[in-house]
Amino acid sequence: MKKCKFCLQPAVILIPLNQMPLCKIHFISYIHDRVKKTIQQYNLITADDKVLVALSGGKDSQTLLTILHDIYNKDIQIEALYINVGVDPRNYSRDSYKVAQDLCDRLEIPLNKIDIRDELEFDMDTVHKLGILQRGGKYRKKGGRFRGECSYCGLFKRYFINKFAVLNNFTKVATGHNLTDEATQLMGNFFNVDMELMSRAGPTTMTEVKGLVTRVKPLYFIYEQEIVMYAYYAKIHHLSTECEYATDSPSHNIKQSLLKIEGFRRGTMFYMVKKFQEKLKPTLFGTISEEKKAEKRCSECGMGTYMETCAFCRTKKRLQEQIETSTMLRHVDE
Ligand code: SF4
Ligand SMILES: [Zn+2]
Ligand SMILES: [Zn+2]
Repeated sequence: MKKCKFCLQPAVILIPLNQMPLCKIHFISYIHDRVKKTIQQYNLITADDKVLVALSGGKDSQTLLTILHDIYNKDIQIEALYINVGVDPRNYSRDSYKVAQDLCDRLEIPLNKIDIRDELEFDMDTVHKLGILQRGGKYRKKGGRFRGECSYCGLFKRYFINKFAVLNNFTKVATGHNLTDEATQLMGNFFNVDMELMSRAGPTTMTEVKGLVTRVKPLYFIYEQEIVMYAYYAKIHHLSTECEYATDSPSHNIKQSLLKIEGFRRGTMFYMVKKFQEKLKPTLFGTISEEKKAEKRCSECGMGTYMETCAFCRTKKRLQEQIETSTMLRHVDE
């Protein structure tokens, strides 16, 4: 077994980027230092910020909240928000909330909660049933193509997190996105040549639009594998069961391919994401029309958006119509 580079104790990990061997104590402080460096370099959080951490009970957000708590202690105002999306199979939502609540109790951080059913009158279990009907071809309707549970769920979560942050005067929303996820998303957007989405990728959304709170990603340069190890050695409890609606999406396959490349070309994800930020993003951002960058308010809900009616309001309306008119929905038996 290799020895820790700093103290010569047995190493517990080889850092993926540079194969540096570290013991448990030095690994934990190394991750802290890298997160701090990202925060400082990209000015993600400052002393007068009021930060809302989006907490899901998963390893990434549980790790993020713990590290931010350790870095800032009580120096800045931090609260957490859990969005109950209503995934009943295997008690996924109930258990993930419990895990999130336990961490907040331990760290003495206020935990807020939103149930999407209270806001939408349907939840992800309903959306899943709708998807079964549409995928089965029994329920076809103009404009009714089903985009996959995670696509709707992600949109709902982003919307309610932002709305809560706006209404409660938070200045930053922090999310647990890691390097592996970000590299995967960047590749996916590249394959679709989606220049607008690529131009918005980064550790911060840097939004000037009122009604859209700036989102920050302090774990932006930390590999998923490092987060798994960090959570293990720092004893951060998180939900290990997967949501039953997580399917084999195209992004899952892109991620597996990137992991393979990373296996024989160390640092691929890190350098791709880092160099994209430095070299390509400024150029791409310059290609986005002023019209698309201009501040707008959603004509339905009044939240900040880059369009006339925000994606949430359009999707909500469409799903509500489909659910109401789908008489077959109640006959679906899983
Ligand atoms: S796996 Fe998909 S549907 Fe399930 S909680 Fe996550 S985003 Fe939502
Ligand atoms: Zn050591
Ligand atoms: Zn809206």
